[in-house]
Amino acid sequence: MRCPYCRHADSRVVDSREADDGQLIRRRRSCPECGKRFTTVEEAVLAVVKRSGVTEPFSRTKIMSGVRKACQGRPVDEDSIALLAQRVEETVRAKGAAEVPSHDVGLAILTPLRELDQVAYLRFASVYKSFDSLDEFEREISELREAASAREAANAREAASSREAASSREAANSREAANSREMTAARHVVPTRSSGRRPGGPDTPDNRLPKIGDRSP
Ligand SMILES: [Zn+2]
Repeated sequence: MRCPYCRHADSRVVDSREADDGQLIRRRRSCPECGKRFTTVEEAVLAVVKRSGVTEPFSRTKIMSGVRKACQGRPVDEDSIALLAQRVEETVRAKGAAEVPSHDVGLAILTPLRELDQVAYLRFASVYKSFDSLDEFEREISELREAASAREAANAREAASSREAASSREAANSREAANSREMTAARHVVPTRSSGRRPGGPDTPDNRLPKIGDRSP
């Protein structure tokens, strides 16, 4: 690797470390000529093939700027957008191909964007799927509504089952409490009985019984 300071043709790697969950490697390099240090980043090449046939390197930044545009005025923060772009890249790279059609990248954006913000999703989908009539918006919106109500139903089911679990837990707890009360009661009973049988102790029936002559004046 050529030194960016003095243009010396070679450099020495002094440190390598993985970054971004192993997606890339950063190398710290040192120039033997001028002694300056610089960092290089190495990652597997992933090319996106546009509809025109032109390829360009996959860019998370580009994904983020597209999604950011769709999220304008929506309550979506920058971290969520960055996280979405990361998910998109993981999805696309998981296919294992060196080249992916830009269409697949768009598809990989739609799913997480729909979870993130429905309005942003609709904006993005309208451009990406090039809606050209109100019918297409209507269809997409009714799909969103169906998905939302399915999600609500699932949540309600989950809440009901967790309520059920809680109440059965409660019942079990109160049974246990009752049992432990019984056991405590039993423990209270046992010592009195056994102490009565302790030979020679102060509580032996003989000792407890007042002697007839004691209290008589
Ligand atoms: Zn140099």
